[in-house]
Amino acid sequence: MAVKQFKTESKRILDLMIHSIYTHREIFLRELISNASDAIDKLYYRSLSEGETGLSRDDFAIEIQTNKENRTITISDNGCGMTKDELENNLGVIARSGSLNFKKEMNEKNDEIDIIGQFGVGFYSAFMVSKCVTVQSRAYGSKEANEWKSRGPSGYSIEPCEKETHGTTITLELLDNTEEENYDEFLSPYRISALVKKYSDYIRYPIRMEMEKTRLKEGVEPKDAKSEDYETYFETETLNSMVPIWKKKKSEVTKEEYDRFYQDKFMDYSEPLRVIYSSTEGTATYNALLFIPSKAPFDYYTREYEKGLMLYANGVMIMEKCADLLPDYFSFVKGLVDSEDLSLNISREMLQHDRQLKLIASRLEKKIKSELLSMLENEREKYEEFFTAFGLQLKYGVYSDYGMHKDLLSDLLLFHSSEGKYVTLKEYVGRMKEGQSGIFYACGDSLARIEQLPQTETLKEKGYEILYLTDDVDEFALKMLGKFEEKEFRNISSDDLGLKTEEEKDEQKKQEEESRELFDFMTEALGGKVKKVVLSDRLGSHPVCLSAQGGISLEMEKVMNAMPNVPQESRIRAEKVLEINPSHPIFEAIRKLYETDREKLKQYAELLYAQALLIEGFPIEDPVAFSGKLCDLMAQLAE
Ligand code: ADP
Repeated sequence: MAVKQFKTESKRILDLMIHSIYTHREIFLRELISNASDAIDKLYYRSLSEGETGLSRDDFAIEIQTNKENRTITISDNGCGMTKDELENNLGVIARSGSLNFKKEMNEKNDEIDIIGQFGVGFYSAFMVSKCVTVQSRAYGSKEANEWKSRGPSGYSIEPCEKETHGTTITLELLDNTEEENYDEFLSPYRISALVKKYSDYIRYPIRMEMEKTRLKEGVEPKDAKSEDYETYFETETLNSMVPIWKKKKSEVTKEEYDRFYQDKFMDYSEPLRVIYSSTEGTATYNALLFIPSKAPFDYYTREYEKGLMLYANGVMIMEKCADLLPDYFSFVKGLVDSEDLSLNISREMLQHDRQLKLIASRLEKKIKSELLSMLENEREKYEEFFTAFGLQLKYGVYSDYGMHKDLLSDLLLFHSSEGKYVTLKEYVGRMKEGQSGIFYACGDSLARIEQLPQTETLKEKGYEILYLTDDVDEFALKMLGKFEEKEFRNISSDDLGLKTEEEKDEQKKQEEESRELFDFMTEALGGKVKKVVLSDRLGSHPVCLSAQGGISLEMEKVMNAMPNVPQESRIRAEKVLEINPSHPIFEAIRKLYETDREKLKQYAELLYAQALLIEGFPIEDPVAFSGKLCDLMAQLAE
């Protein structure tokens, strides 16, 4: 008999399964049962949608047997079965899509055992308890059956065999007991029954097992019964309740059960942050069980990520990822919807126009929103964890579709603030200073960088709170919002923040008038790089800063031009304004130069502009020239 080799990756995982000192060996049963159930689902679905099989739901079952003498456990299903090629392809390699990630995580964390525990690795887990695994399978509609057999990493063989019915029978020959490990527990029907209840209760087909029972022999009165009056007999019992977890009342399911269901079904090793359960009757009848993950999947913010909920029609899965059930801004939600109103044969195209589905989607959207709000109000820490993972998506949501969803999303937003923590817009507005002209915000690459902006320093000193925006989309989202509770958003680098009194304004105007010629000269010297040069009152101890006038802020210029494929000529430019601090010694210096040495003033103007660019986090256009000018100046000073 030819022994074939496993694929390399599979072999590694197999090795790992066998050699880990692993306390949750018992999950092998859950994995095999869930495979059996999936195989039945496939065939049942076919019989419903194509009507070809003539099978009804009652025809399907999973059976378990244990044999103490041979030390074997057998798990049989009458599902779709596998052809020879399928046996080869499905069991010779690890099919599980999560296994790659699983491996990646495993390397990173080196915490192998725990991850297997939470994840399970499908069929392969059989090797945690078996020295030999035999799979006999006959695909539905085929007359041939084949036997796949393996004693572990050394390889496997496939040969034709006899099998009367379609489906799959898996026989595990248990490992020998050692001093540390006793595998006999898995030969006890009571232990198996307990495991089925623990892990597989919601499997929708009966899991049957012959159980040994005792009863009184006929004719004996219970009150006179002695031990020899009892006899043993066998009875087939259905071990699982068959009610899917999402059809159970919330009060009947423990958090652990929900968590385990989520981790298993959606391949996440972390627990969900929140479980959302919803069941409705009436215009739309459905049960929904939704989860908010605690971390963004590694591909979440990429094109590869596919949103969607699993869709069941009356207990039968009809679609793995139904995208129409989730708006993009809630694309992080995982879960399933089971509805009686949907037809099994509905095609993808028809589903998109299905009124019922639209109704469900809009109900779910409201539900998700209200659950998030309640988390924000009652479990702030959790919400912040959520927002750190998925807040970016909500902000894109505000911005996208021309702001259509901004009202729905605005109260879910959090921003960093100068108070050193996350705030909601409501909280911000609630504690605004009297007379404050709007919601102040500042943009930058990082919190530290914003913190160091000259404008930030000044405003903070005056006791104003500032929102710190560090994501590209932030300012676009705010522009889309326009106002929050009638308060306008004001960029502290560009807008008139309305902080000056009338007298101060007059004073500044006067000063500016006096320096008019000087500033015009500097603007001219900068050759169109800035719209104008002005005096500033928001600079504290800093000499200069850059601001923008008009609708495009500095940050927006940065973001839009960072997008790929923007040709040089269509780049967007903010209308930049160079602001100079009148109380900084540099102001005196340039005033003097205007009288004495205009060539040098040109040089100064360039240098000041370059510094302002650097402070705002822009690249300077010609670093070599900048450095040259700076050195010239240094050399002059040292003379
Ligand atoms: P997963 O179930 O996550 O895909 P497994 O390693 O458990 O990964 O199983 C690999 C594949 O083998 C399954 O996807 C399925 O196609 C096939 N398979 C496993 N068990 C059965 C079974 N009892 N009946 C039919 N096919 C099965």
